[in-house]
Amino acid sequence: MKKYLSPILLIVAFAASARAQVQTVPGITAADIRQRLSILASDSLEGRRTGSPGADRAARYISSEFKRLKLSPKAGLYFQPFSFSEHALDSTKHEKTEARNVYAFIPGSDPILTGQYVILGAHYDHLGHGGPFALDSSKAIHYGADDNASGVAGLLEIAEDLARRQVRPKRTIIFIAFSGEEEGLFGSAHYVDDPLFPIESTQTMLNMDMIGRMSDSTLIVQGLGTSPVFRSLVDNLNAPKLNLKYFQTGTGPSDHAKFYAKNVPVLFFFTGFHPDYHRATDTKEKINAGGEATIAKYVESIALDLANRPDRIPFTRPVGDTEQKAASFGVYVGGVPDYGYDGEGLRISEVTENSPAEIAELKKGDVIVKFDDMPIKNIYDYTNALAKHKPGDMVYFTLQRNGSEIKLPVVLGRRKQAH
Ligand SMILES: [Zn+2]
Ligand SMILES: [Zn+2]
Repeated sequence: MKKYLSPILLIVAFAASARAQVQTVPGITAADIRQRLSILASDSLEGRRTGSPGADRAARYISSEFKRLKLSPKAGLYFQPFSFSEHALDSTKHEKTEARNVYAFIPGSDPILTGQYVILGAHYDHLGHGGPFALDSSKAIHYGADDNASGVAGLLEIAEDLARRQVRPKRTIIFIAFSGEEEGLFGSAHYVDDPLFPIESTQTMLNMDMIGRMSDSTLIVQGLGTSPVFRSLVDNLNAPKLNLKYFQTGTGPSDHAKFYAKNVPVLFFFTGFHPDYHRATDTKEKINAGGEATIAKYVESIALDLANRPDRIPFTRPVGDTEQKAASFGVYVGGVPDYGYDGEGLRISEVTENSPAEIAELKKGDVIVKFDDMPIKNIYDYTNALAKHKPGDMVYFTLQRNGSEIKLPVVLGRRKQAH
């Protein structure tokens, strides 16, 4: 005999499963991160392409979490709508894409410092079913588990943990899940042009984009040169003994760059590129949830320190970080830097299909030591060298490959993708 569930039982079962989706435990845990990824990087969210129903579902999930955690909205709303045109980038695209950032905040407890802000950000959009920013030609769902369901899961875990604390931070902490990032940082660009809280009182922006693939406890931290307080802060709070890779620059292809351009000190947390980057294979099974929980706790400790210290967070612009450099992301090579490489030069961890690097016959494992006549000691030198060029320029890379030095001409391409 077959068993049938009565309609009432079916409703109860459905309600229980809907509730189970939003049940998390106190604190920042690997289990909660896995659970959040199972929603954000699911089939039903279809790769969260900006403007798509999947992105809309992601936005509703994030806002419902903010609401459940009793975080404050502004004027009753957790959404900041905006629109942008992809047409200028790709003539086959719509003239107008409607999108929204999702945000909430914890008001500061100090009567004066409450008027100063610490922003935690992570973009929630990804590539949907592929398209011009994908590095494969697959039309399957591009789940973007690492890029950037991981960052959003971390953001929600930090929000949950801070919301449950008895003592509120002195400064106001704002959580923002950005949209339109993949098409060109449109959500963060909109935010800084039309901020919900004054940008000149925004003390810092901490960005998490791709924090789900930690290996060997390595975490890349960029933006250390954007405030004199950052270096000692990230070292002093490194209780989990992460192997930190430091970068001074505040620019880069993710949302923090838009805040940096408005003279806001920024820190960007990132576990590095991998062969699944911008491909349909960036799935949730490959996420190091334990490692991500460690990173989220670490980022939370930095946010709390910045929210509670009495003095303002001073802004500086690191040497070599010019406006021109920010524009340099128009130039594209397609050799993915190996951020874990410690030696001199820039090692290529992967060569993107059909990229200028592949056309020039660069190989995985090559170490770039010279860019024309400029010696390349690290990724910073490399980015500076790129900044001096425009798409279409021909340059010479001097490489170390299997113990010998070779020189290859490379025709620089035009960059399409953000993180
Ligand atoms: Zn991306
Ligand atoms: Zn990203």
